[in-house]
Amino acid sequence: MSPAFQRVAFLGIGLIGSSLARAIRLQGLAGEIVVYDRSVAHAEQALALGVADRITEDAPSAVVGADLVIFAAPIGANEELAAAVGPHLAPGAIVSDVGSVKMAVIRDIGPHLPEGVHFVPAHPIAGTENSGPASGFAELFIGRWCIITPPPGTDEGAVERIAALWRAVGSDVELMEPGHHDRVLAITSHLPHLIAYTIVGTATDLESTLQQEVIKFSASGFRDFTRIASSDPVMWRDVFLNNREAVLDVLQRFSEDLTALQRAIRWGEGDQLFDLFSRTRAIRRSIIDAKQA
Ligand code: NAP
Repeated sequence: MSPAFQRVAFLGIGLIGSSLARAIRLQGLAGEIVVYDRSVAHAEQALALGVADRITEDAPSAVVGADLVIFAAPIGANEELAAAVGPHLAPGAIVSDVGSVKMAVIRDIGPHLPEGVHFVPAHPIAGTENSGPASGFAELFIGRWCIITPPPGTDEGAVERIAALWRAVGSDVELMEPGHHDRVLAITSHLPHLIAYTIVGTATDLESTLQQEVIKFSASGFRDFTRIASSDPVMWRDVFLNNREAVLDVLQRFSEDLTALQRAIRWGEGDQLFDLFSRTRAIRRSIIDAKQA
């Protein structure tokens, strides 16, 4: 059986790009995998690890003759990359991505794609706090959601080919309107990261004796936050700059809820605290039931 794609080009080969490339190879979905990464060390590592068949010195050379091109660099790099590769894309090629924000990706990549090239943005809801090609693994997407956010008028055949690719690497696929995606992810992913960065930042600013004790006695609560707050700074800077409206909106609601909790603690309103903690416990149970724990 011939592979689903003859030549898949990756622009960026870090945690997500290299995990997808590994899974594509494992499933025999590509005839050839070509990689361009700004970091020559990462590109060479991808070659040495067998993640790439071939690496290129520039982005346009990677996409020549590719029937699938996947943007997998931090989202702040997309516009420059799209402008560089746009004129070199093969007619009929599919362009996709893995970015954590979708409206900005469509804004930055879409205008640079020539007529006849299909654009199917995607976001795997899977990841770790690690970066770079050595941290990737083929099983990352198994049992995880991949949200596909085609702009209006996208070729349905192209959408189906990208959906089939993600199913083949183990994901469940859901189609979503891009703006809705950004609002959902602002609360499920972006706000929690912001909170983790804040808590760990607050601990970092404590006077040094207290700071040492925080590290020494870090119970699982603080430890869990430090794991999230060790996520890649470039990636997360780009997420917040590119999902500004949705993040500011949920942040406003969060601040109001936090103020309400502050009042409940101040006035000894135990029932209010108990009710909230009971409701949130039920949410955890439903995530476990949905096998997303
Ligand atoms: P990563 O491990 O840091 O890898 C990104 C790679 O892209 C690095 O090798 C980086 O090189 C390279 N790069 C940076 N700018 C570039 C450019 N202009 N041209 C080509 N390559 C460039 O990041 P990642 O975690 O795989 O994230 C990649 C994308 O996946 C992001 O859009 C992110 O939003 C999305 N995503 C991430 C997660 C997650 O949990 N990490 C989950 C879902 C989706 P340097 O090291 O030199 O910068």
